[in-house]
Amino acid sequence: MSDELLSPAPETSGRDAVVVGGGLAGVTAALALADAGVRVTLLEGRPRLGGLAFSFRRDGLTVDNGQHVYLRCCTAYRWFLDRIGGAALAPLQDRLDVPVVDVARPEGRRLGRLRRDALPVPLHLGRSLATYPHLSLAERAKVGRAAVALKGLDLADPALDAQDFGSWLTAHGQSARAVEALWDLVGVATLNAVAGDASLGLAAMVFKTGLLSDPGAADIGWARVPLGELHDRLARKALDSAGVRTEVRTRVTSVSTDDNGRWSVQVPGGTLAADAVVLAVPQREAYDLLPDGALDAPERLLRIGTAPILNVHVVYDRKVLATPFLAALGTPVQWVFDRTDASGLREGQYLALSQSAAQDEIDEPVAALRERYLPELERLLPGARGARVKDFFVTRERTATFAPTPGVGRLRPGARTKAPGLYLAGAWTATGWPATMESAVRSGVSAADAALGTLGRPRPRHLFAFEEAA
Ligand SMILES: Cc1cc2nc3c(=O)[nH]c(=O)nc-3n(C[C@H](O)[C@H](O)[C@H](O)COP(=O)(O)OP(=O)(O)OC[C@H]3O[C@@H](n4cnc5c(N)ncnc54)[C@H](O)[C@@H]3O)c2cc1C
Repeated sequence: MSDELLSPAPETSGRDAVVVGGGLAGVTAALALADAGVRVTLLEGRPRLGGLAFSFRRDGLTVDNGQHVYLRCCTAYRWFLDRIGGAALAPLQDRLDVPVVDVARPEGRRLGRLRRDALPVPLHLGRSLATYPHLSLAERAKVGRAAVALKGLDLADPALDAQDFGSWLTAHGQSARAVEALWDLVGVATLNAVAGDASLGLAAMVFKTGLLSDPGAADIGWARVPLGELHDRLARKALDSAGVRTEVRTRVTSVSTDDNGRWSVQVPGGTLAADAVVLAVPQREAYDLLPDGALDAPERLLRIGTAPILNVHVVYDRKVLATPFLAALGTPVQWVFDRTDASGLREGQYLALSQSAAQDEIDEPVAALRERYLPELERLLPGARGARVKDFFVTRERTATFAPTPGVGRLRPGARTKAPGLYLAGAWTATGWPATMESAVRSGVSAADAALGTLGRPRPRHLFAFEEAA
């Protein structure tokens, strides 16, 4: 850490903030505070920014730790992409279009599509649903009725969080097949849990916002470059331009306040003084750092569970997948993405399989995963049958997201703590969203907003505004 970082802050009361954690929540909070004229230091324990959404180099390839997508309705993350100058590198589809391949049909492999028309909600999905081959006619009609019932749910009703989505779907006539081929196809990828393990409140939020709000809400966007290009390099550039002092490899060990309300942030080899501190770290780390009395029931943070995501990476000697991505049914494979261009691979094709809610597989040895997934890919992608596998590896994120279990809503704290000048951010805080990049950015904006209020500083006009975007 540089000596400059340790030098005492000049007497400019109300002007110094420290943000702890350089994931999307922390980067957002730091940018928002700096844009409002606050002098910000961002401290990140790892050697890079980006938190859970990052890249690394492996045998000449740039690999993402896990495939990330966002939707057009992720207005805060889109604001973030704009703010760091990365929107063009992670564009959205013109229109939602998801190829869904079922390999378990008696008549053989079958392709269906989930796509939208240019019609108003809910007709925008009507034709796609009416022709979706993975459900019977009766199941499709019942899906329509459940969607109408879902649309009628009041997201502000806290009772929704106590129920599980799976039971609600069953009560609304959804067969096990409809859950597998439609609700879980979308829900597992966005919630990181099967319907039976997910809070109805969070599931309803995802489906209402993504599929039943605006016709384009579920159009999918993803980075055409490595995640690190966005969340580390471009984020760092934006922070530098905004005047944020960013220190990586700097792990905060404690946070405390004095009688005058001035904060001290302890790092190895020194202390930083601040008027406001944003803890943008995962819930367990937040619990460890929170001073006594900052939350009424801090042990609640420890009751927020976590859920894993596994990514299986396969490099073939030739092109085996013709579309940018697809979703799969009748196989353990969930979603497959073509990462060839983004990774810098020059010959052949590099596929990443994104396996959410991967509790059963997260600790399996690579050899067992290889034995399972290569034949499954051959079933799914006929072109893979004659192709040579040049590389196979996996990335495991054991605490990829908070577990969206029923009841999790009342465990998630808001941005404000009881300690004046101390704020919380992170995808796991009370944003109303599941653990996503959108939730992280929203939490960072909320924490910055709260801190700016306390510091008596005006909110920057260009900062993401929830009301305007809603
Ligand atoms: C494999 C995978 C796939 C995913 N797919 C998607 C997807 O498709 N779409 C989507 O929207 N979201 C997805 N997510 C979720 C998304 O990545 C996260 O919700 C989001 O990045 C969380 O950001 P955050 O800033 O809240 O937390 P984090 O990213 O966890 O950032 C917290 C940071 O704090 C740092 N830190 C911790 N303790 C300290 C300390 N004491 N001092 C200093 N620094 C500290 C950590 O090193 C970390 O960088 C996925 C996640 C994973 C892992």
